Amino acid sequence: MSDATPLKIAVFPGDGIGVEVMEAARQVLAEAERRIGGFKCDYQDLPAGAFCYRDTGESLPKASVAEAAKADAILLGACGWPDIRLADGTEVRPQVELRFLFELYAGVRPIRFFPGTPPVLASQGQRPINFIIIRESTEGLFASRGSGPNPEVATETLVITRRTTERLMRFGFKLAGQRKTAGHPGVLTCVDKANIFSSMAFFRSIYDQVGLDFPEVGKDYSYVDAMSHNMVRKPWDFDVMVMENMFGDILSDLGAGLIGGMGMAPSADIGEEFAVFQPSHGTGPDIAGRGVANPIAMVLSGAMMYRHLGEKRQNPSLIAAAALIDSAVERYMANAGRLPQDLGGDAPTAEVTDLIIKALEDLSSQQAK
Ligand code: ATP
Repeated sequence: MSDATPLKIAVFPGDGIGVEVMEAARQVLAEAERRIGGFKCDYQDLPAGAFCYRDTGESLPKASVAEAAKADAILLGACGWPDIRLADGTEVRPQVELRFLFELYAGVRPIRFFPGTPPVLASQGQRPINFIIIRESTEGLFASRGSGPNPEVATETLVITRRTTERLMRFGFKLAGQRKTAGHPGVLTCVDKANIFSSMAFFRSIYDQVGLDFPEVGKDYSYVDAMSHNMVRKPWDFDVMVMENMFGDILSDLGAGLIGGMGMAPSADIGEEFAVFQPSHGTGPDIAGRGVANPIAMVLSGAMMYRHLGEKRQNPSLIAAAALIDSAVERYMANAGRLPQDLGGDAPTAEVTDLIIKALEDLSSQQAK
């Protein structure tokens, strides 16, 4: 592909604040594209989500999936709405469907504290929190979704397969190795409950086997209960951790809490062929429509998309655009007199977005000098 060939980005704006933060992220991504040059993205909006289900009976229309499958990457706001339920009483979750459909086994959840964020822990600020949770996203306790209860008992089966776990561990070790090259400790911690569950002992045994191919990466184990304790006590001690789906679902929210909340937590769901980038948060029914959502998680998810595409296509311009967005958020936070509501301020989404774009312009002008 020549640099002139546009990248096709499928966009699911979703529901509630998903739509609001997507608009903000699109503006920041476009500005970074304009400033850096050397690549072009064409965005295509696709319907999906709870309101789509209410209006059409489909939460993830086949035509949307077909278009998304042709894209170079997928950007997703957040989908779901408490009052709109499927026949079994659960919420509409096309984002989970996409993970299964596209085999997006590696849920990457960076947990990075930006100076300027009101600290959550008393000792925060002395040592930076900067670690990544890799949440397996296609099996584990989510594998039996939709099995439904009978009148007397409900069961869910936790599934760990060798095929997916090998891929997951390879992904984790590679990422920890790349982080080592970039000056981080380069340690992959296997988070499990191998003392109780045979499925988890199996998970750990595959971590051990795959780890033999990555002698440069540090190895460590933690039971999930101990990890939830240590993530609060000493979160700066961790680098990259890999875990089963449900554990990752819970610990990534704990991680988001450590860095200022869901509005600060980006994510990527990555498979061999496809990748979806979305904030870790939901649709914020309690704040939707008021224009106060924090757009940073979505903006940083967009930066993750640029980095992923840049690495995949070996296009340094995309990687530079990702770095520029990260630095712009860092600069905005460091100077932020005007924080969004979830960080204790009262700046609306549009103002936060403008300030991030202003920081991006300033950085870009400095770099040009
Ligand atoms: P879901 O059930 O789909 O996860 P939710 O929005 O109820 O959706 P979370 O995303 O976990 O659940 O959000 C928890 C709280 O954090 C809610 O009060 C929500 O409004 C708030 N929140 C989430 N994302 C943001 C954001 N980007 N900006 C501000 N507040 C947010």
